[in-house]
Formats: sequence, structure tokens, C-alpha cells
Amino acid sequence: MAVPRHHMAKGKQLRRRSHLALKPKQLTACSHCKKMILPHLVCKNCGHYKGKEIINVLAKELKKKEKQKHRQK
Ligand SMILES: [Zn+2]
Repeated sequence: MAVPRHHMAKGKQLRRRSHLALKPKQLTACSHCKKMILPHLVCKNCGHYKGKEIINVLAKELKKKEKQKHRQK
């Protein structure tokens, strides 16, 4: 059951919130380019995951530039 706010002592509220702090993000180094990345995800810097190239980063960048050129016209 919800308790009206004025019935809650500040100490009780603070004790409850003592467990709500955010933990820092756990980063791991990319096995290919050594950049710090989120674990279990493809590296956005080099496109590698588990020692294999998953995303061709250079081709993707070229495609992006081509798209921007088309937009400017
Ligand atoms: Zn990488």
C-alpha cells in the first residue's frame, strides 16, 4: 500500500534510495583495434567481432559520403 509522502521520514527515503546508484559501464578492449567497446557487440571503430570482420567500415563510410553528395544536389 502507498504511504502518503508526509508520513515518510527522510531517513527512510534515503535508505531506500541508497541502492539506486548507477554502476559505471563495463568496457572491454576490442581484440582488433584495442579501442574500448561494450562487450558482446561488434566494434563500431573497425567492424570486427571475435576476430572476424563483420562490417566493412570503409565501404560503409564511402556509401555515406555518396549519399551526402546526392542530398546536396
Ligand atoms: Zn575494433
